[in-house]
Amino acid sequence: MDYLPIFLDIKNKTCLIVGGGQVATRKVMLLLQAGAQVSVVAPELESVLDEYAAHGTINHRAKCFQPEHLHNIALVIAATNDHAINQQVSEAAQERRIPVNVVDNPALCTFIMPSIVDRSPLLIAVSSGGQSPVLARLLRAQLETMIPVAYARIATIAGKFRKRVKQHFTHPAKRRIFWETILQGPFTEMILAGKDKTAQNYLLQSLQQEKNEPPQGEVYLVGAGPGNPDLLTFRAMRLMQQADVVVYDRLVSTAILDMVRRDATRIYAGKERNRHTLKQESINQLLVRLAQEGKRVLRLKGGDPFIFGRGGEEIETLALNHIPFQVVPGITAASGVSAYAGIPLTHRDYAQSCIFVTGHLKNNTIDLDWPRLACPNQTIVVYMGLLGLPVLSRQLISHGLPSSMPAAIIQQGTTQQQEIVIGTLQTLPNLAATAHLSPPTLIIVGEVVKLHKNLAWFEPALENSKTHLIDMESNG
Ligand code: SAH
Repeated sequence: MDYLPIFLDIKNKTCLIVGGGQVATRKVMLLLQAGAQVSVVAPELESVLDEYAAHGTINHRAKCFQPEHLHNIALVIAATNDHAINQQVSEAAQERRIPVNVVDNPALCTFIMPSIVDRSPLLIAVSSGGQSPVLARLLRAQLETMIPVAYARIATIAGKFRKRVKQHFTHPAKRRIFWETILQGPFTEMILAGKDKTAQNYLLQSLQQEKNEPPQGEVYLVGAGPGNPDLLTFRAMRLMQQADVVVYDRLVSTAILDMVRRDATRIYAGKERNRHTLKQESINQLLVRLAQEGKRVLRLKGGDPFIFGRGGEEIETLALNHIPFQVVPGITAASGVSAYAGIPLTHRDYAQSCIFVTGHLKNNTIDLDWPRLACPNQTIVVYMGLLGLPVLSRQLISHGLPSSMPAAIIQQGTTQQQEIVIGTLQTLPNLAATAHLSPPTLIIVGEVVKLHKNLAWFEPALENSKTHLIDMESNG
């Protein structure tokens, strides 16, 4: 974050605008809307400002800026087209620690102004941190169309009942659930339909029916997909906004974690090979304990929770303890990573079946049914296979797959860090070692890997990405 977004209370405080043109006029209007006393310094004023000054709505302080004009000023905006004056204002304000904005010149600003969607008291501010104001404006325009004007009334009415609702509930979590239910239910619909009185009665009735007892905890076992936040499901997103606490794995990317409700407590439960942060049994018990405390617990897992995710074990413990839970499927690495690598897992000409296995290495072996894997016309997807890759390659070849069989290993698939190494069963272990790959990686073995050459479409950010494309003919 380059800037900290905050909302400033400038009611009845004096703010100074230097400049009297159109841009200055817009800033004056904005400050007036926020309840400020506005002083303007400019040689000449636009007609609107002139009229405001005549009616005493603003104070036309002087023609030329002098640092003393900053005395007792809460905030200053320079909107002249004279760089020297803008700079003088900025320096004088900064010397006095007064927040200053110079229009279209971030270098001279101590704060920048966002694009806003105004549904007062509800306000949405959008900023590109000065990088692309037009992008921020486009986004603002989208938000304008998405957020009904009536949201202003929803916020006002909710505000009127805030204290009363607070008094009704001693458990803050219960209060939050009450508001979530109200704001996502008939109350909102009634206000959207213009029936504000009915909505208020409905709210009061709902409140009276609510018993002030501790909330019932619940666990959401949610698959977060292979790393790219675009691949979250709507349902995952919704539950991510409701959770009081999130227990997440190493595979859950920061980009995804950032989308969880800001004030949810975060607990890392993570799992790295040979470095289990929390033992599986402790995780199971932790989920039970948190839910018993009445929390809505988001158990966030990479990929799909039921595919090599131990999701089953976790909810078994919940079921035993009569804790309510729900499961949200996620895009598993096999399907997400293969899509972003341009390798279809099945294809009429090459593979009629596809098998997912774990290549977890234990005592230098992998416990797999090799004859079943080494079949023609089948794609093999190996999870957790990086360390075991040499064993995997050796076993598949000795059980009958040709050493020239195309094979790929993909690191951090679907993300901006995606790296692909392509070779054959024979060459892949060495190629992977040379490329210094690290987990998570997914291995795909089968004729379908050939299709990557023509079907690759995803271009991760250039500085991160490497595709080590090896000519299969010459390496086979
Ligand atoms: N439940 C998860 C799998 C957990 S096992 C799922 O459904 O995807 C962890 C393994 O998943 C990793 O070792 C790796 O093999 C694979 N994996 C997960 N995300 C991946 C990614 N973005 N790129 C490559 N492999 C990934």
